[in-house]
Amino acid sequence: MSGKADPRAAGEGTTSRTRLDRGRAALGPALELVHTGRAPTRAVLTAELGVTRATAGAVAAELEALGLIRVDARPGAAAGSQGRPSHRLAVAEDGPVALAAQIHADGFRAALVGLGGRIVATAPGCEVVDADPAKVLGSVVEAGAELLRQTGRRCVGAGLAVPSAVAEPEGLALNPLHLAWPAGAPVREIFAQQVRAAGIEGPAFAANDVNLAALAEHRHGAGRGARDLLCVATGHRGVGGALVLDGRLHTGSSGLALEVGHLAVNPEGRPCHCGSRGCLDVETDPLAFLTAARREPGPEVSLLQQSYDLIREHYTDPAVRTATETLIDRLGLGLAGLVNILNPDRIVLGGLHRALLDADPERLRAVVAGRSLWGQSGGVPILPCGLDHNSLVGAAELAWQPVLDDPLGVPA
Ligand SMILES: [Zn+2]
Repeated sequence: MSGKADPRAAGEGTTSRTRLDRGRAALGPALELVHTGRAPTRAVLTAELGVTRATAGAVAAELEALGLIRVDARPGAAAGSQGRPSHRLAVAEDGPVALAAQIHADGFRAALVGLGGRIVATAPGCEVVDADPAKVLGSVVEAGAELLRQTGRRCVGAGLAVPSAVAEPEGLALNPLHLAWPAGAPVREIFAQQVRAAGIEGPAFAANDVNLAALAEHRHGAGRGARDLLCVATGHRGVGGALVLDGRLHTGSSGLALEVGHLAVNPEGRPCHCGSRGCLDVETDPLAFLTAARREPGPEVSLLQQSYDLIREHYTDPAVRTATETLIDRLGLGLAGLVNILNPDRIVLGGLHRALLDADPERLRAVVAGRSLWGQSGGVPILPCGLDHNSLVGAAELAWQPVLDDPLGVPA
């Protein structure tokens, strides 16, 4: 279509400028469509953006010139939205990366994550997590910097996932209980300092690990296409939750929403560090599972891994089976309460909760349906999380967000 056919254009100069402006405004949305796998071809991109083929072509070419995506030179056999062959679009395999870092109760992991949520390289570090956040964050950033040196990739910025609520706007880790860090540690500022000290360009972000897992699942995993996505997951210790509404994390007024771990599911249960009793956090996490299965937690691997191994290899053991059913019933009770309050259209489960779902999906779905007002009429789909290392991928999403908002700002 010629630019002159645009009724909004007044003259030749205005026409090309209008098209250019429209193209620029479409760069971010176009990159997000390719990033989340929703625009596999230029024809789909054209339809999704609601622009002309010429504009979509120019936008795709610009993103390719920025080194962010790859456009197949010839229209492939893959059909576009109208069944015609169309140029295939993909994220650039050798493009820039975000440095992602995750701290958990048993150590840390650093990774480089490209567009599309693709993990390019990882470096695990298993150690006793030091009580000084600066030491741990220094180690994980150094591991990430080493990955950057090895791969020679451009870096857009850094994101950190921590097993604690992170209060905004200061970026304070309020309750890093299983890390022995001081409550209220300014983790985002410490992380940003370590990133700068390592000579890594770009902004630095930090957020709660389950929030980040939910964001990653919504963009690249089992939550794709959900409108109100509820994610509930255990880490190596404890339980967290997150809600993604219309593609954005619901964080509450100061970043502290969705502390689902402190929903009471067993009034006679064990005391919780929050002051209550029988919370999901202490009744359905890996330690609770090992205790219910009458196993002594060993020091070799994480409690989460020990729980996985027990369910996978010893499910026929009556004590393991009973423990699994007990935890499924408690988790189901918690999920039913959340369904009543939040009315999600999908639930994804991670960590040990994913293993509980895999062990007996019918039992969990029946408990949720039987105990929730809306669950009885049809039920909410409950799915296992679909990504490995979703908190890391989500941490990278934080660092990718400025580029998704303005692709022209990507470091050259
Ligand atoms: Zn509690």
